[in-house]
Amino acid sequence: MRKIFIVRMLAVLMAVTVIAGCGAVPLTGRKQVLLVSDQEVYEAGLTQYKDYMKEAKVSSNAKASSMVKSVGKKLADATEKYLKANGLGAELSNLEWEFNLVADDQVNAFCLPGGKIVVYDGLLTVAQSEAELAVVLGHEIAHAVAKHSNERISQQILARYGQAILAQALSNKSEMVQAVGSSVFGLGAQIGLMLPYSRKHEYEADYMGIVFMEMAGYDSESAVGFWTKMSAGGGNTSDFLSTHPSDNKRISELKRRLPEAKSIAEKY
Ligand SMILES: [Zn+2]
Repeated sequence: MRKIFIVRMLAVLMAVTVIAGCGAVPLTGRKQVLLVSDQEVYEAGLTQYKDYMKEAKVSSNAKASSMVKSVGKKLADATEKYLKANGLGAELSNLEWEFNLVADDQVNAFCLPGGKIVVYDGLLTVAQSEAELAVVLGHEIAHAVAKHSNERISQQILARYGQAILAQALSNKSEMVQAVGSSVFGLGAQIGLMLPYSRKHEYEADYMGIVFMEMAGYDSESAVGFWTKMSAGGGNTSDFLSTHPSDNKRISELKRRLPEAKSIAEKY
């Protein structure tokens, strides 16, 4: 298994110069470097998700669980409609949405590559309406659609090894190649579960999230209220803020982009 992975990683690394810079984020059009195949990231996400759900305790609040699933489904449908309408239907092969509410007091939510989204029921102490829940779910869906995990893994590969790894790999120094293989595997594990803080990704996910919200029929103005509550520190918000830092800049950026989000959504 590990051997196959390393061989595949080697192929990926050898292709670095060819595929570097060829990705573009849906909706924003931002160019991104993606060095790992979508399939690889999807499989890693799925494995982590299964492991996580084996240990997790699903919320006993049936009403809230079904709200998470139904709001998630509306947003996912809108997102898929957008992707299909923009010639990006092929992206759906690596997106299989699941929305779960897990019994945990933390005010948090996360998304694994491929669209596996988990909300802790502590979050519902802050997100108190369907629209506010849609703010969070739209944001998490956006992380998956924008392939932020793949981008972070790719950035780590470049930061750690740069172009040097190519020469090493080509000269068949297996020790170095193995080190990269296991390191990248480890990075995937770290990065997939809780996307580490990246302001650029957070703002991008916010923007895409409000577009998807509008498309799904929710009022995207709720995002301003939700993030204001979060930044005011209502409830135990520190966990969520560690992965989703909220401050005035974030809120003003959201406000600035609301009209644009609404006008894009009107076309769908
Ligand atoms: Zn985020």
